[in-house]
Formats: sequence, C-alpha cells, structure tokens
Amino acid sequence: MREKKERKVLPTLKFMFGILVREKPWFVVIYVIMGLANAASTTAGIVVPKFIIDELVAMTGGDVQAHITNAIIWAAAFMAVLSVSSVIAAAGNYFQDILREWFIEYIDIRLAERAMEMDFQHTEDPDALDKLNKAQEGMSWYSGGIVGITDSAYYIFVNSVTALTSAGIIIFTCPWLLPVQIISLVLIALFQSKINGIEQKSFAELSTLNRIFFYLFEGLSDFRFGKDIRLYHSADMMNWKARHYTEEMCGIWKEQSHEERRYQWRMDITNSLRDGISYFYIGWLALTGAVSIGDFSMCIGAAGTLYFSLNGIIDGFQGIFNKCRYAHRYIEFMDYPAAMQKGTRKVTGDSHMIEFRNVSFRYPRSDKWVLRDINITIKQGEHLSVVGLNGAGKTTFIKLLCRLYDVTEGEILIDGVNIREYSDEEYRKLFAVVFQDFSLFAFTLRENIAFSDSKDNDETINDVIKKCGLAEDVKKLSTGLDTVIFKSFDENGTDLSGGQRQKAAIARALYKDAPVVILDEPTAALDPVAEYDIYRQFDTLVGGKTAVYISHRLSSCKFCDRIAVFADCTIKEYGTHDELVGRPDGIYAEMFAAQAQYYIG
Ligand code: ADP
Repeated sequence: MREKKERKVLPTLKFMFGILVREKPWFVVIYVIMGLANAASTTAGIVVPKFIIDELVAMTGGDVQAHITNAIIWAAAFMAVLSVSSVIAAAGNYFQDILREWFIEYIDIRLAERAMEMDFQHTEDPDALDKLNKAQEGMSWYSGGIVGITDSAYYIFVNSVTALTSAGIIIFTCPWLLPVQIISLVLIALFQSKINGIEQKSFAELSTLNRIFFYLFEGLSDFRFGKDIRLYHSADMMNWKARHYTEEMCGIWKEQSHEERRYQWRMDITNSLRDGISYFYIGWLALTGAVSIGDFSMCIGAAGTLYFSLNGIIDGFQGIFNKCRYAHRYIEFMDYPAAMQKGTRKVTGDSHMIEFRNVSFRYPRSDKWVLRDINITIKQGEHLSVVGLNGAGKTTFIKLLCRLYDVTEGEILIDGVNIREYSDEEYRKLFAVVFQDFSLFAFTLRENIAFSDSKDNDETINDVIKKCGLAEDVKKLSTGLDTVIFKSFDENGTDLSGGQRQKAAIARALYKDAPVVILDEPTAALDPVAEYDIYRQFDTLVGGKTAVYISHRLSSCKFCDRIAVFADCTIKEYGTHDELVGRPDGIYAEMFAAQAQYYIG
C-alpha cells in the first residue's frame, strides 16, 4: 500500500513540473530568486543581532565611538537585506497570484477537453464520473494544483538553506541543541503524518457525498428544473435530501476532528518540552560565560530557525506527498483507459452501405439484452423508418450505429469494413444526428447551428433554417442569428419554444451536410402543421442522403423506403409501408390501425 502511494509522488511531480517548465519556465527563476532572498533575510535576522549586541556590550571599557559606528553599519546592512528581500517577496507573490489563476484555468480547460472527448459510455459510468470529480477536487483546494505543489517545493528549498545555516551556527556555538531539536522534530513529524492520514481517509469518504451535494445545490438551482420542482412540489424532498447529506458530511468532519485532536495534544507537549530544554541549556552556557551575550541571542534565534526550517522541510515533503496524492487523481482521469478500440482507417467515397450483422447488445454494467441478433442492411440513399414501442431499443440501435457504444456481439460494417477499424473522428463525420434529448447551448443561434461564430456561412445557415421552417421565427428575433439561446448569460437572449428548438436541432444536423442523417423522433415537439411540412419536405431536406428516422407517428413512415419494426429486443418486421400495413396480425398493421382511428374519428 505504502509503495503504491509513493509511486504516485514521483510521476505526479514529473508531470506537474513538466507542465510548469513547459508553460511558464520563467516562473522557476522567480521562485529561485524569491527563495534565496527569503533565506538571506532569515539568516541575517539570526546573525546580525549577535554582532550588534556584542558591539554594544564591548562599548563598556572600549572605543565607544568605533563600536557605535560598527553597530550602526550592522543595523544598516540588516535593513538593506530586509528591504531588498521584502521587495522581491512582494513581486514574487504578485506573480504567484497571477499564475495560480492561470494554472487553475489551464487545468480546468484540460479536464473539460478530456471529459468531452472521452468515450461516450464513460459519461454514464459512475467510476469515470467519480474520477472526474476527484480530479477536479484533487487539483483545486486539496492540492492547490501546479502552483500549490511548486509552493511546497519552494518551501523545501528555502527551509533547506536556512536549516543548513542555522545548524552550522548551532554546531559552533551550542552543539547540544541539535539533538534536542531533531528528536522533537521527528516526534512532531510522526504525529503530523497521522493527522494527514486521517485527512486522506475523510477525503475519500467525502468525494461521493460532495458529488451528490453538487448535484443538489448546483444542478437543481438550474432554472431548467424549475417547472418540475414547482409542479411536483419536490422542493421538500430536495431540502430533506440536502439536510440528510449535510448531516452525513458533518458526521465525517466531526469524526475527523475528534481523531486529529488525539495527535494535536501530543504535538503541543513535545513543543513545550523542546522549548524548555533549549532555553535552559543556552541560559546555562551564557551564565557560565561559555558564550557571549551576542552568541546567546544568536543561539536562541538559530535554534528557533533550525526548528522551524526542519519542520518546514518535513512539512514541505509531507505537503508535497499529500498534494501529489490528490493531484495524481488528475493524471488518473486524464489517462482514463479508453473503453473502445480506436481505429485509424478513413472513410472514403460518397456512397456508403451500412450493415448490422448478428448484432446483440447489453449496456455496460447491465445483464439485460437490449438488442438481440439484429440483421439489417441500409443502402446508400435509402430512407429507413424505425418504429416500435417505448423501450424497444430504437435509440440504442442508433447509438450503436454512431458508435457511442460498441456492440456486445456481432458486428456493424460500413462498406464491408467493421466500424471499429475507422478512426472515431472520421467515422462520426458520416452522421448528422438529432437525438430525442438533443442539447442546445447558451450560445448564439449561429453558433448552435454551425459551431462557429463566423458570418461567412450565414447563407447556408439561412438556407437550412428556411428548409426547417424556422426562418420566420428568426426574422422576428431582433438580433437574428446573433441571438443567444436561453437567458442564462444574456438578458437579450431568447427562450425558444419546444418546436423551435427542435427545428434548430434539425437545422444543425442539415448544416453538417453529412452523408447519413439520423432523426430520433424529430417532430415530437412540433405542431401537426409543422410536422406535416417536415415530412412533406423530407426528401428535399435530406436529398439523396441515407436517412434513418425514428418515429412514433406511423403516418410519417409512408415517406420512407423501408420500415423496421423493433419488438422483443429484435427486428420483428421489415418491409415497405404497404407490405407491412397489409400483414394480418402484424405489429405494424396493428399499431398503424390504432393510430389511424384518432385521425379518422
Ligand atoms: P427506445 O428508443 O425504443 O424507446 P431505448 O433504446 O432508449 O428504447 O432503450 C432500450 C432499453 O435499454 C430500455 O429498457 C432502456 O431502459 C435501456 N437503456 C437505455 N439507455 C440505457 C443506458 N444508458 N443504460 C442502461 N440501460 C439503458
């Protein structure tokens, strides 16, 4: 266990300092200058008073004027060292603050990039989510991130220099102080490491609770949940849950503080004993005339500085060990293993044939088969309608086609090649998908459709907007395509209706101009007229492209070349509308008849 912990420290240090040196090399120079200035002022603080006191003591019976002049020179030199080092420290702190912010953003951006590009199935994997949360926490206040770790290295450096100088002074003037300081230090370090262990244990226990807490407070204060919270009176339940988790967290903190106290009082006793013994010993040396009054003052200063420096070194090492263990969670998340094999092949040509061969699928961490033995071929330009009851596996079929998940058994081929062989980036260029739970972002309409703020493509954007029946709505917006969707960040933003959002999502899919268009219930939020318009224009909208279309409204299937009816985890019926609607006891025929009665009646 211990060996495992240690192995995290060096790679983490290498990783973090690697980033520091690569991104901001001049910061290392600033740290070294700050460290030397700091050590110089501390050492001057121990040594200079000795000379001043000795000069003042020597005045009685000596050359008063000469001793006063010497004492003034020592004092002036001391002031000069202090002034220079405090100017350097102030400048260093200024840069430290700026860089701390810079590195926080740097890490946040890297984490967000990684979270966005990692395999989709990790986005619902509790282990991956927990690791993301631990990475964020581990790189924030738990470790202070890159600057936090560099700070610890800096303290080790500064304290090593001051420990060396004060140890040298002690060895030459009051040597027995050395073992006293060292023994007390070892004891203090031991107690401190116990306290650190207790903190680590609490951190692990708090991680999941923190995530739940974040969800309760951040997620649910999101206005998007506002309607459901009000209409279902769920605020009481939310509050109850928040109270419950607060109590659980407080329990962990209470236990942590209780356990820490047991070691805190041992540290206090050790400190008192050390100080008592030290003063007694140096006082005795001065009284017996073994050291001068100046030496007495220097020894007291050196003993204190040695203690604090050695403590600082141990603290620095413990800090660096601790911080690295927390910060290592960032590396763990960044290296989170891919769930899917990555291919490199490019998709070539304009005509593509999709084939599902004996495909079966279970979601990760689930025993339940969602799809069983799916065999289907979709030719270039074919329009396939996928129908079936809720939960029949239609959306899952689409997710497999887009390779958001890998099949559990069988294979999916594009142009005869297993899709695992294609590079993800290349493969996903093939598809323009509108999922049922599509997302629009709090960006401008233009950015939501084109994922670019360039106005160069406005002609194409306006064209797809027109095709989707959104052009009139956009004209009514005072800033047109520049209108920000949602009001979260812009008071002039707009809240689109469900139908408008769906049209915008379809416009985004069409704008992508991919060879395969997939629409998962694209018209669910549209009114019947808009829905009819979309169907009527469907051929114009998708042109000669391959299209897969999930719909609950079976009248829309008439517009498709083939229909696949999903039931009992597989494709139960397959054919054209006319073939299926006339099939006696057929699922499609029954569903169609059930829906038709509403329209006829
Ligand atoms: P449909 O689109 O036909 O309504 P889905 O493909 O969404 O059906 O779902 C098929 C089955 O897979 C359902 O039983 C659903 O509960 C399950 N399912 C869907 N998504 C997941 C998931 N991410 N993890 C586990 N099970 C899932």
